[in-house]
Amino acid sequence: MRTNLPVPERALAVGAHPDDIEFGCGATLAKWAEAGCKIALLVCTDGSKGTWDATTDPAELVVTRRAEQRAAARALHPDAEVVLLGWHDGELESGLRQRWEVAAWIRRLRPEVMLGHDPWKRYRLHPDHRNAGWLVTDGIVAARDPLFFPELDAPPHRPSTLLLFEADEADHVEEVTGYGDAKLAALLEHRSQHRSTMGIFSAPSGADEALHPDVVEFRRGVGDELAAHGALAGCAAGEAFHRIEGL
Ligand SMILES: [Zn+2]
Repeated sequence: MRTNLPVPERALAVGAHPDDIEFGCGATLAKWAEAGCKIALLVCTDGSKGTWDATTDPAELVVTRRAEQRAAARALHPDAEVVLLGWHDGELESGLRQRWEVAAWIRRLRPEVMLGHDPWKRYRLHPDHRNAGWLVTDGIVAARDPLFFPELDAPPHRPSTLLLFEADEADHVEEVTGYGDAKLAALLEHRSQHRSTMGIFSAPSGADEALHPDVVEFRRGVGDELAAHGALAGCAAGEAFHRIEGL
């Protein structure tokens, strides 16, 4: 098990939906940002299917989730950049059109380290997570090789390292002791997902929220996962990845 990359100057995380990046690598991004790394979160879909309530207006949900994603990024670090690509939730494809857009952002933001869903994770159900994973791997190839998309205004860019979260075979851990609270705060900003994703029912907003039993239980779950990932590398809290270099 390898641990702790040197803090990159710039990092770009790609997620399928609002909240995926925070679940996958929120504490790592918070740690790096505090150490001076410029972090950016690129969210592929609009989150318009993220509810159990069939009467929800999808257009209203999109507006809500945009605001939640920006607040969540701020909870990781005030200077975090957010890019919302706005593809329809549940219908994300990893075609040439989408690859063009991801490659354009990689060339523009020029990250040393990229983070994203592991597209090779076995038995994964959600197609958006698979396709967001392919968009990272395929987007890197298109961003680095100069004959791809010559009409793009930014020159080619080759990141040095790719960290895949939800890893099928974890082989790298970032120690995140002390950054679990930032991850939790960012996740809790996704209030529209409290019920369906986080098991939090009718928690009040404000100071009392942290004491609500469902929030306490959710915090315990997030902490348990950080502890389990950290244990892979003998540290108290971690986020585990599959690491690919020589991109
Ligand atoms: Zn998702």
